[in-house]
Amino acid sequence: MMTGMGKMLLALGDLLMPRTCPVCGRPLGLNERHICLYCAADLPLTYYWERSHNPMADRLNAALPDQEGMPYAYAAALFFYDEDVPYKMIPWKLKYGNGIGTGRYFAAMLGRYLAGSEWFGDVDTVIPVPLHWARRWRRGYNQAAVIARAVAGVLGAECREDILVRRRRTTTQTRLGGDARSRNVKGAFGVAKRIPGMRHVLLVDLRPGRRRRSASVRSAPPCLRRSAFPSRRSPL
Ligand SMILES: [Zn+2]
Repeated sequence: MMTGMGKMLLALGDLLMPRTCPVCGRPLGLNERHICLYCAADLPLTYYWERSHNPMADRLNAALPDQEGMPYAYAAALFFYDEDVPYKMIPWKLKYGNGIGTGRYFAAMLGRYLAGSEWFGDVDTVIPVPLHWARRWRRGYNQAAVIARAVAGVLGAECREDILVRRRRTTTQTRLGGDARSRNVKGAFGVAKRIPGMRHVLLVDLRPGRRRRSASVRSAPPCLRRSAFPSRRSPL
């Protein structure tokens, strides 16, 4: 709940530097945080956390290399977005616009949905897909880690950024096609340490769009599964 002083400061901030909805561009009201009420009401949620088998998880499992005895990997995303829809501005703001507060807000929303899910509610460890140190240094933060920390906070899980490491630098994925993306990240990840006691691991990445699948999310699970998690639970 915002206090009177908080509202006054926010109103003053809006006068000095008006906050706008990143989706429609409308100025935000005092009671609106990050996006306007209209865009929030129309947020195209996937509801994938309500279905153990969904199109996203099916595509991921089809792309994972055959690893005998490994169970189906669950997968979920908060909302749909693509190149041609304004909702793409939410992840864009987190990735390029220093929108850490916006990222935390939507990640906490995802965390609340996951917490109530039969397939994600018992996640005990959240691992962000790492950026290469040089890219992280240039951007100042890892957008996947911003999401992972907020999701872990809501789930009451531990966020571990010291397990999955990026072994080599890859070229930016944005302009690459599907096969080129997979080649680009092949062998790019490794596991730095084994942590006993983890049972259900959630791997977090910021997806580049509905049609552009995250090659990182497809290439990181096999190495996590091979090296660190001999248990029967899924690492995604
Ligand atoms: Zn809006």
